[in-house]
Amino acid sequence: MNVAVVTVGDELLAGRTTNTNATWLCERLTERGVSVERVTTVPDRIADIARVINEYRAEYDAVIVTGGLGPTHDDVTVEGVAAALGRSLEEHDGALAWLEEDGYSRADLTEGTADLPRGARALHNRNGVAPGAVLEGVYVLPGVPSEMRAMFESIATEFSGTRTYREEVVAAEPESALLDRIAAVRERFDVVVGSYPGESVRLSLQSTDEATVAEAAAWLRERVEQPE
Ligand code: ATP
Ligand code: MG
Repeated sequence: MNVAVVTVGDELLAGRTTNTNATWLCERLTERGVSVERVTTVPDRIADIARVINEYRAEYDAVIVTGGLGPTHDDVTVEGVAAALGRSLEEHDGALAWLEEDGYSRADLTEGTADLPRGARALHNRNGVAPGAVLEGVYVLPGVPSEMRAMFESIATEFSGTRTYREEVVAAEPESALLDRIAAVRERFDVVVGSYPGESVRLSLQSTDEATVAEAAAWLRERVEQPE
C-alpha cells in the first residue's frame, strides 16, 4: 500500500510550528509496511488543499490529511477536502451523537463543529472536539498532535503493507571512502542501502527478509571502521 501525507497550516510553512505530525505519521506508516510516497505541506487555503488532494488521490492508495478541523476561520481543512471531492458539507448525525455522549450539548457546540463532507465516515475525536472523516481513500485528521495520534491509532489497521526490516551500521570513515564497500554489500545481498553522513556515517540496510538484513549488516560491520 502506498500513501501520501498532506499537512495543512500556514504556521508550518512559516516555521512557527515544527511538523511533528508528518514525521510521526511517516514513522507509524512505515512500521506498518506502508510506503509513504509524498509529504506535502499546504497553506490554510481551500483551493490549495483541494488541488493536492485531487492529485494524490488519483496517484496513491490513500491520502492522509492533517490540519485545522476546528471552527475557527483558518480551519479550512474539511472545506478543502469537500471541494476536492465535490461534496457539500453536512451535519453528521453520528459525529453529533458522539459529541453529545462526550457531554457537549448541541446548543454549546460552535456552529459547524459536526459538519463533514456528505457521505463521509466520521472518526471520533477522543482527545478533542472536532471529528475526523474518511471518504474515497482520503483520511482527515486533526492538527493537534495528541488528537491526531489517537485518531490515527483508531484506524491504523486500515494501513498495511509488506513489512520491511532495517539494520544500521555506523562507520567512522568519510562517506567517499566507503563507496567500494557500499557497492559490494549491494552486489552481494538483496538489500536497499541508504547512506546518511553526519559526524560518522550511518549506513541503513533494508529488506523484506529479516535474515538477509542481519547477514548483510554482519558482513558490512566486519568491513568498516567502527566508531570509538
Ligand atoms: P483546534 O480545534 O484546537 O483549533 P485543529 O484540529 O483545528 O485544532 P489546528 O488549528 O491546525 O488544529 O492546530 C492546532 C494546534 O496543533 C496548533 O498548536 C498547531 O501548531 C498544532 N499543529 C497543527 N499541525 C501540526 C503539525 N503538522 N505538526 C505539529 N503540530 C501541529
Ligand atoms: Mg484550529
